[in-house]
Amino acid sequence: MIVVSGPSGAGKSTILQRALAEVRRLRFSVSHTTRPPRSGEREGIDYHFVSRSEFQRLVDDRMFLEWASVHDDCYGTARSEYDRAAGDGVDLLLDLDVQGARSVRQQFPDAVSVFVLPPSYEHLERRLRSRGPADESVYARRLRVAAEELRVFPQYDYAIINDDLDESVDSLKAIIRAARCRTSRVEPAARKILSTFDPDEKESR
Ligand code: ADP
Ligand code: 5GP
Repeated sequence: MIVVSGPSGAGKSTILQRALAEVRRLRFSVSHTTRPPRSGEREGIDYHFVSRSEFQRLVDDRMFLEWASVHDDCYGTARSEYDRAAGDGVDLLLDLDVQGARSVRQQFPDAVSVFVLPPSYEHLERRLRSRGPADESVYARRLRVAAEELRVFPQYDYAIINDDLDESVDSLKAIIRAARCRTSRVEPAARKILSTFDPDEKESR
């Protein structure tokens, strides 16, 4: 599991989408949310958009691996996303707020966590506004929450300052590649290789 967090507007979705198009065996974990779709967002691709009552039913039925309330809306990762990815042998890329990331790190100690920072407050404000019209109160709330979220970046394994987009995408791809080369990940294949050096095994082949 590769968990990416960072304040709204830092550029997470943009970086993730590029990485997903360029890295094999990587799948985006489509979350459930009670927030309405933004223009261009598609059901089942960016999010599963559900009502508050439907979300509550999923919480009651323990369908979520983790869920959190962010900016007055609810967001959650379905257990089925994880199970499906594990069954298909692909890595799962999750875009989670800081509470969700903490929960996943506790449940999956080998998850890799990445924090995306904007280059400055002004960059973040500009990017939030560039995403389309919203109430002034929406921008104000997201910028206020951003200041709190940014403080927890040291809890993450890696941090990317998203200034140049190409460089940020390269950094995420390098992090994924390095994670895939961890000895714990390679161990089953490495053990198989080792067994080919075993004289008894050699004889039976
Ligand atoms: P998030 O998923 O973190 O909320 P988005 O990916 O939606 O953020 O990005 C917010 C806005 O910033 C979008 O309009 C996006 O095109 C823009 N953006 C993302 N990364 C960069 C970058 N490196 N330089 C300039 N603009 C960027
Ligand atoms: P946005 O509304 O900008 O798409 O997302 C707002 C925040 O919710 C972001 O910080 C994003 O990382 C977070 N988020 C998206 N999906 C989930 C999820 O399934 N669980 C949690 N905990 N946070 C999520």
